[in-house]
Amino acid sequence: MAANCLFCKIAKGEIAAQKVFENEHVFGFVDIHSQAKIHLLFVHKKHTANINEMSGDPEAIAQMFRGIAEYTKGCELSKNGYRVVTNQGPDAGQTVFHTHFHIVGGEALGHFGR
Ligand code: AMP
Ligand code: ZN
Repeated sequence: MAANCLFCKIAKGEIAAQKVFENEHVFGFVDIHSQAKIHLLFVHKKHTANINEMSGDPEAIAQMFRGIAEYTKGCELSKNGYRVVTNQGPDAGQTVFHTHFHIVGGEALGHFGR
């Protein structure tokens, strides 16, 4: 746990969030400023700042995507699919520096870019 990290605190239950999934490694919750019909955030309980840092822990990456697959298989996102987005650094607009994966869907999405 990193000191004063919002998503470490959410994953530990110290700050409230609308939890949708939890296992030993991964925590999933509803994004507070939803950008789509369904907009979730999935985080690993082990703190890293971004995907470059997380790439040093391949097992954590595998656990992350296993968690996402486990969750999405059991809900309406499995029907028509969903998008996984992670923002790294200022050009991508990263605002929380605990690696997180946006899960977006529940409706047909436009193409992304600028
Ligand atoms: P990013 O801009 O990729 O760093 O994404 C950070 C995301 O965290 C944004 O989509 C915010 O809406 C979301 N967010 C910030 N604070 C909270 C919170 N307390 N609970 C849920 N989502 C949050
Ligand atoms: Zn953290």
